[in-house]
Amino acid sequence: MAQGVSSWALLLGVLLGAGAAWALVRRRRSPGVAPGVSPHLLPDPALEWLRRAHAAAGVWVAEMDSRDGEPHAERVVDAERLSVTQIVAVDRRLERARDQEQSGAERMEGGTLVFHAAAGIAVGLLLPGGADGGRLEAAESDLRRLADGVRRRPQIVQLAQANTLEASLESVGSVGLRLAYQLERMLDAQVVVAAYERGADLGVDDTGIEGTVQVIGVSGRGDRRLLESTLPPDSDLGRVARGEVDSVFFEGDPLGGVVPDRRQRPGAVLVLPMRAGERFVGGVALWLPGGREPLGGVRAEILAALANAGPRVVTALEADKLKEKTRLDPLTGLLNRRGLDAALNRVDVGDGAIIYADLDRFKDLNDKLGHPAGDAALIHFARIIREQVRNGDIGARIGGEEFAIWLPAARLDVGYRIAERIRIKLNTTQWDWRGRHWPLSASFGVSACPETSREVGDLIPQADAALYVAKNSGRNRVERAGGR
Ligand code: GH3
Ligand code: MG
Ligand code: MG
Repeated sequence: MAQGVSSWALLLGVLLGAGAAWALVRRRRSPGVAPGVSPHLLPDPALEWLRRAHAAAGVWVAEMDSRDGEPHAERVVDAERLSVTQIVAVDRRLERARDQEQSGAERMEGGTLVFHAAAGIAVGLLLPGGADGGRLEAAESDLRRLADGVRRRPQIVQLAQANTLEASLESVGSVGLRLAYQLERMLDAQVVVAAYERGADLGVDDTGIEGTVQVIGVSGRGDRRLLESTLPPDSDLGRVARGEVDSVFFEGDPLGGVVPDRRQRPGAVLVLPMRAGERFVGGVALWLPGGREPLGGVRAEILAALANAGPRVVTALEADKLKEKTRLDPLTGLLNRRGLDAALNRVDVGDGAIIYADLDRFKDLNDKLGHPAGDAALIHFARIIREQVRNGDIGARIGGEEFAIWLPAARLDVGYRIAERIRIKLNTTQWDWRGRHWPLSASFGVSACPETSREVGDLIPQADAALYVAKNSGRNRVERAGGR
């Protein structure tokens, strides 16, 4: 009996949790529902199953919400066994029990009402006929647990909200790695997970580009150099990920030779697609021990893991894109201050040089030609910066007409030379605004690790100070930090 009761409590807890999540989903989809209403609806199955477990004619919940002071009621009844008058009679009796905090059992028309009330919550079961002692006791015990679940519902709702938030913070890399490790543990297989980002998602659909399939997860025994690599379009994993072919099971390289992989892999590989609903969002390659294709229950488990990961990949891709957006300057497309800080705070950041630049007499330009002209000049300068640095260098607009460039692994003299190159390019490239020529120039400060500081964190203030010297020395020039 004790075990039966506790499993009931567990079942109710799970159902209430699921109900809370369900209620949240419903609330978001139907903005017309007043806030705070849906989480107070008990999920039908919990009440219905409780009713059936006791062969009751109905189960009732009547609560007084502690936050808004409003009464809320829920009931599941067997309409064939009860008349409307009988149902309403139990409604009223339960409301009274709630307000007077009564518990007990009473004969009513239609059966025996067992009820329990505490802390503004009343719950009741209408048992058929004159119920005997044992059945009453079991009903009372389940009712107490039901009341407890109802009381804790606000916390369950909060928990569901917290979990949703946490899930939305997952990056695409962590979804990929989790899936790879989960499948490795489950199957003892080497696993590679890839995500498919469609052309439409990349904003290049009209150029006819198919989108990209990128490796987002490699299991423990796999080759980690594969992470973040883009798979050739005609690779088997690429084609399965895009939904062009169904799953494949074969001996060979499903990755299209993207990384020459010297690690030994058992021959046969199974490639399966990953979907979010109908949409193809990626795929997995599984090198299984023994080279046998998994069927039956094992295959079902793999598919369940993929079905769980698919929608999370979509959410993570969107979240990653949003995160990236907050790090970009919308005017020039360069990174913004936050983006530069993030780049400099990465764990793997080593030596390098920083160039600081500020357009000269920019206020003049704005005053004489207008703000849109100023914006166009900023875009022009950003383009020159982009053209003058290498891939891997990081350009950022960190303020109104102030820019910074991080040159990883560059020495101070290299930083100086590149700043000079940008300065001269800006000087010698004609810039016009609506047919009117306007000379542009900028001043620069350069610092570098390890020459001017041992700490990357000191480079920005050092470059800024050098820029100040350049401004005070007549502008349109480059100065090194510490006057080196
Ligand atoms: P200096 O040579 O000493 O740098 O002189 P300056 O006029 O460039 O310097 P100051 O800092 O006094 O003026 C910067 C101007 O940049 C002021 C502001 O109107 C302009 N500015 C800042 N952000 C933007 C922007 O996004 N667009 C435009 N058009 N102008 C901007
Ligand atoms: Mg300025
Ligand atoms: Mg300026």
